[in-house]
Amino acid sequence: MTKHTGRCFCGAVEIEVSGSPEAMGYCHCSSCRSWSAAPVNAFTLWKPENVKITKGGEQVGRFMKTERSGRQYCKTCGGHLMTDHPTMGLVDVYAATIPSVAFTPGVHVNYAETVLPIKDGLPKLKDFPAELGGSGVVVPE
Ligand SMILES: [Zn+2]
Ligand SMILES: [Zn+2]
Repeated sequence: MTKHTGRCFCGAVEIEVSGSPEAMGYCHCSSCRSWSAAPVNAFTLWKPENVKITKGGEQVGRFMKTERSGRQYCKTCGGHLMTDHPTMGLVDVYAATIPSVAFTPGVHVNYAETVLPIKDGLPKLKDFPAELGGSGVVVPE
Protein backbone atom coordinates (compact mmCIF):
# COMPACT_ATOMS: atom_id res chain seq x y z
CA MET A 1 0.00 0.00 0.00
CA THR A 2 1.32 3.45 -0.89
CA LYS A 3 2.33 5.52 2.12
CA HIS A 4 2.96 9.24 2.35
CA THR A 5 4.48 11.17 5.23
CA GLY A 6 3.38 14.61 6.32
CA ARG A 7 4.52 16.92 9.06
CA CYS A 8 3.52 20.08 10.87
CA PHE A 9 5.20 23.44 10.28
CA CYS A 10 8.05 22.77 12.76
CA GLY A 11 8.37 19.02 12.18
CA ALA A 12 7.61 17.94 15.78
CA VAL A 13 4.56 16.03 14.56
CA GLU A 14 4.62 13.53 11.72
CA ILE A 15 1.72 11.69 10.22
CA GLU A 16 1.42 8.91 7.67
CA VAL A 17 -1.41 8.26 5.24
CA SER A 18 -1.84 4.92 3.47
CA GLY A 19 -3.51 4.07 0.18
CA SER A 20 -5.58 6.67 -1.63
CA PRO A 21 -7.91 9.39 -0.40
CA GLU A 22 -11.67 8.84 -0.66
CA ALA A 23 -12.12 12.30 -2.17
CA MET A 24 -10.24 15.52 -2.79
CA GLY A 25 -11.39 19.07 -3.37
CA TYR A 26 -11.82 22.53 -1.94
CA CYS A 27 -13.93 23.74 0.99
CA HIS A 28 -15.06 27.37 0.99
CA CYS A 29 -16.88 27.40 4.37
CA SER A 30 -16.33 30.25 6.81
CA SER A 31 -15.02 27.88 9.51
CA CYS A 32 -12.26 26.52 7.25
CA ARG A 33 -11.40 30.04 6.13
CA SER A 34 -11.27 31.41 9.66
CA TRP A 35 -9.26 28.52 11.08
CA SER A 36 -6.80 28.23 8.20
CA ALA A 37 -6.48 31.99 7.68
CA ALA A 38 -6.83 31.29 3.95
CA PRO A 39 -9.59 31.99 1.41
CA VAL A 40 -10.15 28.29 0.71
CA ASN A 41 -9.14 24.92 2.20
CA ALA A 42 -7.74 22.20 -0.07
CA PHE A 43 -8.86 18.90 1.49
CA THR A 44 -8.07 15.23 1.05
CA LEU A 45 -10.49 12.88 2.82
CA TRP A 46 -9.29 9.56 4.24
CA LYS A 47 -10.73 6.66 6.16
CA PRO A 48 -9.58 7.07 9.80
CA GLU A 49 -7.71 3.73 9.74
CA ASN A 50 -5.52 5.05 6.90
CA VAL A 51 -4.23 8.03 8.90
CA LYS A 52 -1.65 7.56 11.67
CA ILE A 53 0.30 9.97 13.86
CA THR A 54 3.81 8.49 13.74
CA LYS A 55 5.73 11.10 15.77
CA GLY A 56 4.95 13.75 18.37
CA GLY A 57 1.45 12.57 19.24
CA GLU A 58 1.67 14.32 22.61
CA GLN A 59 2.13 17.60 20.72
CA VAL A 60 -1.19 17.30 18.89
CA GLY A 61 -3.95 19.61 20.07
CA ARG A 62 -7.56 19.20 19.01
CA PHE A 63 -10.28 21.84 19.00
CA MET A 64 -13.95 21.15 18.38
CA LYS A 65 -16.11 24.19 17.67
CA THR A 66 -18.86 21.84 16.55
CA GLU A 67 -19.31 18.09 16.98
CA ARG A 68 -18.74 17.66 13.23
CA SER A 69 -15.08 18.72 13.15
CA GLY A 70 -12.09 17.97 15.41
CA ARG A 71 -9.42 20.38 14.18
CA GLN A 72 -5.92 19.10 14.97
CA TYR A 73 -2.76 21.15 15.17
CA CYS A 74 0.77 21.12 16.59
CA LYS A 75 0.90 22.72 20.05
CA THR A 76 4.53 23.79 19.49
CA CYS A 77 4.28 25.65 16.19
CA GLY A 78 0.52 26.04 15.73
CA GLY A 79 0.77 24.38 12.33
CA HIS A 80 -2.43 22.69 11.18
CA LEU A 81 -2.46 18.97 10.47
CA MET A 82 -5.92 17.59 9.83
CA THR A 83 -9.56 17.65 10.85
CA ASP A 84 -11.47 14.53 11.81
CA HIS A 85 -15.16 14.45 10.95
CA PRO A 86 -16.69 11.92 13.40
CA THR A 87 -20.18 12.19 11.97
CA MET A 88 -18.91 11.51 8.44
CA GLY A 89 -16.38 8.83 9.42
CA LEU A 90 -13.65 10.63 7.49
CA VAL A 91 -10.47 12.59 8.23
CA ASP A 92 -9.52 15.67 6.22
CA VAL A 93 -5.74 15.79 5.93
CA TYR A 94 -4.95 19.19 4.43
CA ALA A 95 -3.39 18.85 1.01
CA ALA A 96 -0.58 21.18 2.13
CA THR A 97 0.28 18.78 5.00
CA ILE A 98 0.99 15.85 2.64
CA PRO A 99 2.70 17.46 -0.37
CA SER A 100 3.79 14.15 -1.95
CA VAL A 101 0.16 13.11 -2.51
CA ALA A 102 -0.83 14.25 -6.03
CA PHE A 103 -3.68 16.69 -5.43
CA THR A 104 -6.43 16.05 -7.97
CA PRO A 105 -9.51 17.97 -6.81
CA GLY A 106 -12.92 16.70 -7.89
CA VAL A 107 -15.38 19.06 -6.24
CA HIS A 108 -15.87 22.36 -4.43
CA VAL A 109 -18.03 22.21 -1.26
CA ASN A 110 -19.77 25.00 0.68
CA TYR A 111 -19.47 27.16 -2.43
CA ALA A 112 -22.41 29.28 -1.27
CA GLU A 113 -19.95 30.80 1.26
CA THR A 114 -17.11 31.44 -1.18
CA VAL A 115 -15.00 34.60 -1.06
CA LEU A 116 -12.74 33.33 -3.85
CA PRO A 117 -14.74 32.01 -6.81
CA ILE A 118 -12.66 29.54 -8.83
CA LYS A 119 -13.70 28.95 -12.42
CA ASP A 120 -12.08 25.56 -13.03
CA GLY A 121 -15.04 23.67 -14.45
CA LEU A 122 -15.36 21.36 -11.41
CA PRO A 123 -18.78 20.85 -9.78
CA LYS A 124 -19.68 23.48 -7.18
CA LEU A 125 -21.88 22.28 -4.33
CA LYS A 126 -23.94 24.75 -2.30
CA ASP A 127 -22.99 22.81 0.86
CA PHE A 128 -22.16 19.08 1.11
CA PRO A 129 -22.99 16.06 -1.04
CA ALA A 130 -26.31 14.40 -0.14
CA GLU A 131 -24.51 11.17 0.89
CA LEU A 132 -22.64 13.18 3.56
CA GLY A 133 -25.78 14.81 4.91
CA GLY A 134 -25.82 17.92 2.69
CA SER A 135 -28.34 19.17 0.14
CA GLY A 136 -26.32 17.96 -2.83
CA VAL A 137 -27.43 21.11 -4.67
CA VAL A 138 -25.10 22.24 -7.46
CA VAL A 139 -24.65 26.02 -7.84
CA PRO A 140 -23.12 28.11 -10.68
CA GLU A 141 -19.41 28.96 -10.70
ZN1 LIG B 1 4.90 21.81 14.86
ZN1 LIG C 1 -14.93 23.90 5.42
